[in-house]
Amino acid sequence: MSFLFNSFKEWKQYCLDHDMNLYEAVIEYETAQRGKEEQAIWDGLLSAYQVMKDAVETGLREEMTSRSGMINNGAKKVYKHPVAVLSPEFQKLIARALAAKEVNSCMGRVVAAPTAGASGILPGTLYTLQEIHELPDRSILEGLLIGAGIALIIEEKASLAGAVGGCQAETGSAAAMAAGAMVYCLGGNVDQIFNAVAITIQCMLGLVCDPVAGLVEVPCVVRNASAAAIANSSAQIALADVSAVIPVDECVDAMGEIGASMESKYKETAMGGLAATLTGQNISKRVLIQDIEMLPDEDLPE
Ligand code: SF4
Repeated sequence: MSFLFNSFKEWKQYCLDHDMNLYEAVIEYETAQRGKEEQAIWDGLLSAYQVMKDAVETGLREEMTSRSGMINNGAKKVYKHPVAVLSPEFQKLIARALAAKEVNSCMGRVVAAPTAGASGILPGTLYTLQEIHELPDRSILEGLLIGAGIALIIEEKASLAGAVGGCQAETGSAAAMAAGAMVYCLGGNVDQIFNAVAITIQCMLGLVCDPVAGLVEVPCVVRNASAAAIANSSAQIALADVSAVIPVDECVDAMGEIGASMESKYKETAMGGLAATLTGQNISKRVLIQDIEMLPDEDLPE
């Protein structure tokens, strides 16, 4: 297969026609696109998953303070807090999603899945799912392929970029990838996997991209945590066969339509929403002054 699926319906049909699993169709696509052996794809997935887990551990262990000061070791505080709002597992999920994203905000190494801005969601969800259910790595890697297939279709039908579709396209897509991957890993069928994607998108629709001072820190880091929680709730709902009612392809169409009609001030320009608040503007000015002070004399404006 050397083409990208245009819809979830096509992906399902292709798998039915060729008697294959969803992830096998993605492997076929990846090997055709990259001209690599299948083993190289699995090796790449394993190392990507290792980078995700390393980002979680780094965020929970090392100093995580961004130059702007907006990020200040939040993941560690959540991880160590004595009160678990729901359960210790939920506390770990939230802390891990925050941790991997804080690593990105502090210029560390992450997997941009599907973007750096949403890089805490798959690590937080899959790491925690694997731990709770004692899943083998192979199952998680197959889930990552399902997530990749989901992202490829969203990219084709809508967008994965905050600058194009708002934050629904970034953290929303990552949450949809995570929800689909989780349902797959827990034995869900194709309809349940796609239903999880549809439910997740329904929960994330309309979210604008409004990063304070144009930095991928606030609200990006906390949105990774909330998106991870939504991915889990969607997976739970989908596994129980509660229908999203609106089919997944139509949900993605809605995401594209909303993204296209969103004003540019809500598309990573830092001109609207939280970025435009009084505090957001003050932080923006402070960050600008910091940047100017760090410039060598010859680069300073006359
Ligand atoms: S607010 Fe914008 S920059 Fe931040 S995670 Fe969302 S899409 Fe990315």
